[in-house]
Amino acid sequence: MLKKLFQSFRPPVHAQHHRRTTPEVINKSQHSLQRSQFSRHAVGIVERLQSAGYQAYLVGGCVRDMLLGIAPKDFDVATSATPEQVRAEFRNARIIGRRFKLVHIQFGREIIEVATFRAPHSDEDQDDKHRSSHHANGRILRDNVYGTLEEDAQRRDFTINALYYDPVSERILDYANGVHDIRNRLLRLIGDPTHRYQEDPVRMLRAVRFAAKLDFGIEKHTVAPIRELAPLLREIPPARLFEESLKLFLSGQGAMVFEMLVDLELFAPLFPASAQALDDRPTYTHTLISQALSNTDLRIKQGKPVTPAFLFAALLWPALPARVLHLQNQGVPPIPAMNGAAHELIAEQCQRVAVPKRFTLPIREIWDMQERLPRRSGKRADQLLDNPRFRAGYDFLLLRESAGEQTDELGQWWTDYQEAHDGERREMIRDLGSRDDGAAPRKRKRTSSKRKRGGDEAFD
Ligand code: ATP
Ligand code: MG
Repeated sequence: MLKKLFQSFRPPVHAQHHRRTTPEVINKSQHSLQRSQFSRHAVGIVERLQSAGYQAYLVGGCVRDMLLGIAPKDFDVATSATPEQVRAEFRNARIIGRRFKLVHIQFGREIIEVATFRAPHSDEDQDDKHRSSHHANGRILRDNVYGTLEEDAQRRDFTINALYYDPVSERILDYANGVHDIRNRLLRLIGDPTHRYQEDPVRMLRAVRFAAKLDFGIEKHTVAPIRELAPLLREIPPARLFEESLKLFLSGQGAMVFEMLVDLELFAPLFPASAQALDDRPTYTHTLISQALSNTDLRIKQGKPVTPAFLFAALLWPALPARVLHLQNQGVPPIPAMNGAAHELIAEQCQRVAVPKRFTLPIREIWDMQERLPRRSGKRADQLLDNPRFRAGYDFLLLRESAGEQTDELGQWWTDYQEAHDGERREMIRDLGSRDDGAAPRKRKRTSSKRKRGGDEAFD
């Protein structure tokens, strides 16, 4: 397929992958891109900026993905115009500033991100207020240094992300031999890998994400320093790591991402407690997490909605038993121990990857459901069915079973119960008899002792 994409274009024999000052120019007849495939709003922005006298290109993921025949997630524009100059050209534009100043131009639900060409940071210029600011370990903290197109290409992460498409001339400019790497399905950092990871350790996670998403190999110098530098991720703000984790696990290749993160030792700095569980109970933990991610990958492929809370609930679940046990050994009763452990574990996780409240609450609810699902007698089963979290709780129970947890066929019971008619349901509840713990209030004493068993059952 790629042969067709790059009809007559052939890369130079001795492709030099780092710095080039003149780009490889790939003309319209030498590539498969068509202006009409790109967002017309993005193309419109480029045309407008060019006619105002600025340089402007479509860049990054959209050019890369189009060359690979994948539908791009979004369209990014790079330009020589400053954010203020861009804003002056468009009514629907606003400047946003996270790590760097960018312009968002909105067309209904589509937002096009326009970035001004940036220069790579320069180590000699650390004192200059206008240059980028560095942390002692080489990390870039501020990066608002505008530069030329050539410089902009050099400071991008991977060669395949540094392709510039001009929809007016329909040419691609390639400063880093990205087209060569696309043909060979290889992910390669621009510049010295160790240095580039030190500047921004998140590039290690991006390497994993793109390799999994595009099914690319990682070039050997690009992969080599990762294990050693993985601990640098501990210095990244937890909010950024949350965003990046979502992209990793919701990429549609989450199961593969997980394998790569573990292999490259990037999993532990993100999820320390889960990594510990992976050491302590490798088969169970690995099965549970990969199964959750495979299910998610499948749902994404089928266009079904996925909830990050379910994923995080699964990622952290194997780390719970050790915590619960620890509290119980200190004399805390089972249910409070479970609650305390859940609270601690989530709070600790948020120090690394800042999972927002809107997800941590449902995580707790999914976990609580695991204690409630065994208790079915009287009206409880029907009340649980009406609970808005029932479905997630039930799916989570099936997930635990698929990882080998012993639940006394509770999952099958709930599957049958959902499919049963009213009469059959009453019979199922009757049949539970003494097996179930949901006794009437006057037998409360027995209830609590069974409850304890229910709570422990979760961790068998
Ligand atoms: P996708 O949007 O499909 O996830 P993308 O390549 O567009 O992939 P973005 O995060 O949208 O990724 O970034 C757009 C472009 O900005 C990238 O293609 C890359 O050129 C550059 N870029 C993004 N993050 C970094 C980084 N941490 N270091 C260097 N360049 C980066
Ligand atoms: Mg993008």
